[in-house]
Amino acid sequence: MSINPLMPVYPRCDVRPVRGEHCHLIGEDGRRFLDFASGIAVNALGHSHEGLIGAIQRQAETLMHCSNLYGSPQGEHLSKRLVGLTFADTVFFTNSGAEAVECAIKAARAYHQHVGDEHRHELITFNNAFHGRTMGTISASSQEKMHKGFKPLLAGFSYCEFDDLAAAEAAIGPNTAGFLIEPIQGEGGIRIASDEFMVGLRALCDRHDLLLVLDEVQTGVARTGTFYAHEQFGIDPDILATAKGIGGGFPLGACLATEKAARGMEFGSHGSTYGGNPLAIAASEAVLDVVANDAFLAEVQAKGNQLRGRIEQFIGNYPEWFELVRGRGLLIGLKMKVEPRPFVAHLRDRHDLLTVSAGDNVVRILPPLVIDDSHIDEFMDKLSAGAASYDPAETA
Ligand SMILES: *Cc1c(COP(=O)(O)O)cnc(C)c1O
Repeated sequence: MSINPLMPVYPRCDVRPVRGEHCHLIGEDGRRFLDFASGIAVNALGHSHEGLIGAIQRQAETLMHCSNLYGSPQGEHLSKRLVGLTFADTVFFTNSGAEAVECAIKAARAYHQHVGDEHRHELITFNNAFHGRTMGTISASSQEKMHKGFKPLLAGFSYCEFDDLAAAEAAIGPNTAGFLIEPIQGEGGIRIASDEFMVGLRALCDRHDLLLVLDEVQTGVARTGTFYAHEQFGIDPDILATAKGIGGGFPLGACLATEKAARGMEFGSHGSTYGGNPLAIAASEAVLDVVANDAFLAEVQAKGNQLRGRIEQFIGNYPEWFELVRGRGLLIGLKMKVEPRPFVAHLRDRHDLLTVSAGDNVVRILPPLVIDDSHIDEFMDKLSAGAASYDPAETA
């Protein structure tokens, strides 16, 4: 037997973290990395946050898991809190982002079936989208690399160019149930939809009784400087999938919906053994205690602007490698003129700086939302040292 006992689906790098300290990760060998990846936009409070640890410890001692067969004072409290913070009237808790998107897809189909439009089962999604790795969510993505080996895909999705309103309108047919979209594509390279596009999709949905389903798994929970990113576009969705930051590192996701959009989600129609168990809820409450207030959101915006501004100024020194920087809040993309993967590896291996590569030649910069000026300084030092020592020929 030569297969790795840890199923080899990830090309894992040599960093082997065993400990987290605020905005740093410490490897098995004691090396200390500045973590501007945050477990891909998950560790919103960084590592070793006392409030989050305390909440999980207390809840673990009290009640970890029971079942969704019983009443859930914990889930009721968090769902009310999310309803109060958002457009939504109701919440289904999941364990991951893909499951939150799955619930969103099911809710969208169930809505149309409930109102008697059985044929309206198709969601229009957008090129280079990422919605997760289940059969449903890979079928929702146009990206061939995620389909390979797993066909046949599920029916009921059609793909359309991102940020092209005329194409989106033209894609609407008799079977269309709605649109499923990331308002800012994460894995696709921090590509931000225009305001006109998002407002236009909302208007198309209103005109044709379609559902606007947002995937805010990466953009949600204060990451972009508002609680959800759609607030910045001046529109509300009918259904929204959230995960990543919402548990601060504890696996939790949720599907948020209006009362109207959740019409088809009846008793017995959906479920999850773990979804929203007391331990996950406690973790999320601790995250919201920190991030769900205007002062914190304003800080994320300010830190994001500062960090983005400094990167923007810096990349002028290396016009041969860097094209531009874009993003909202602390969801930042540095677009390169060359393949970003070797540069991300160089920053990691030679300068102890963790970032994440993405589509469209982008280096994703996703620090914990609790960074301060010292972390921004440290990041800029490492980035400039990294660029100064970078030789693509050497790393290729
Ligand atoms: C990460 C991500 C997902 C999938 O979340 P998992 O927790 O890995 O299932 C879905 N949509 C977007 C936009 C994501 O960034």
